[in-house]
Amino acid sequence: MNENQIRKIREDFPILSEKIYNRNLIYLDNAATTQKPRCVVEKMEYAYYHLNANIHRGVHYLSQKATEAYEEARSTVAQFLNADKREEIIFTRGATESINLVAFSFGEAFCKPGDEIVVSAMEHHSNLVPWQMLCERKGMKLRIIPMNEKGELQLDVFPHLLNEHTKIVAVTHVSNVLGTINPVKEIIKIAHQKNIPVLVDGAQAVPHFAVDVTDMDADFYAFSGHKIYGPTGIGVLYGKEKWLNTLPPYQGGGEMISTVTFEKTTYSEIPFKFEAGTPDYIGSMALAEALLYVQKIGLDVIANYENELLNYAIKRLKEIEGIRFIGTAERKCSVISFLINDIHPYDIGMMLDKLGIAVRTGHHCAQPVIDAFGIPGTIRISFAFYNTKEEIDEFIAALKRIVPMLVSKK
Ligand code: PMP
Repeated sequence: MNENQIRKIREDFPILSEKIYNRNLIYLDNAATTQKPRCVVEKMEYAYYHLNANIHRGVHYLSQKATEAYEEARSTVAQFLNADKREEIIFTRGATESINLVAFSFGEAFCKPGDEIVVSAMEHHSNLVPWQMLCERKGMKLRIIPMNEKGELQLDVFPHLLNEHTKIVAVTHVSNVLGTINPVKEIIKIAHQKNIPVLVDGAQAVPHFAVDVTDMDADFYAFSGHKIYGPTGIGVLYGKEKWLNTLPPYQGGGEMISTVTFEKTTYSEIPFKFEAGTPDYIGSMALAEALLYVQKIGLDVIANYENELLNYAIKRLKEIEGIRFIGTAERKCSVISFLINDIHPYDIGMMLDKLGIAVRTGHHCAQPVIDAFGIPGTIRISFAFYNTKEEIDEFIAALKRIVPMLVSKK
């Protein structure tokens, strides 16, 4: 992308022109949440002003229009992930809810005491705690794919973790702390050789490169709308039809039933079986708008440009004396975690904030990853396609001002 294209893209995101403490906002916290382009916000406004009625249940015009738009959003998501069937797309509140849905429903259907679940050493709590809860509920055991000091999964160990007790593998596509892009296609292939299904947590992947669930042969794939320029409170679970048809519902309520009597309830077909209650249909429409927006820019264009930003930022960060990178995998996405000398990440984050620069500090909801490196946390910067090399330059200049102040205080 050239400067003109980026300038035009930045105009789509009004918040990027905000002043923070009278300074230009430099937003480098995109792994936590992304900013929203006008078209997404306008889609929500349009939908509330012109399309708002509860879906699926109404005979009236507005309800039918809202239902059509909601189901069209489902088709957009299916096409975005290259799912075989639109019924394989379930709308949820986000990646967390998607994973909890599978951990609960899959657990109910297939798991018993003594069974095992495999996760990786670099999971976000959202792809760890639901499985731990399942293990506690059912008397099961969690096994961990280890990682090396660069923050890469040790794939040679992985096959040895799988045995006749293994019920499911749950692994992140991209680590939100380390930026590592995991070889999920290979992981799935190995697991499938032993007929073990795989859930992929795609929260940090879908915003950055094209994802094809059919090509990777994922059994389940989860992501959140807000990390891909869509609204908060909406997310997606992709599930292969054969699994979704066999899993019991996650929640009970309206919409997910076929017939209800006091004696017995029968459930709807997929996807509705997993969408109890009034869904966030407006959020779904706006999420679809966000997906169309990134597709219009082009996921390959995004991946290339963000990779340029990543390499440029790493190169410039190396100018800072005492820098230590956490996560130096060969295949990385636009997330950089680091520490400088023994300065506490929080102190650096606070001072950057005063200069209008938004970064994240701490454990990033992945405490075991932080513990593995024996550190108190990291400073994390994460890019979106609206970030620029000039912003990185300002960020480096700010660090160069801040670090001597914090070092000399010690
Ligand atoms: N997985 C990963 C890798 C994440 O980075 C996050 C969010 N930081 C989640 C899951 C959870 O996403 P959400 O809070 O939107 O459900």
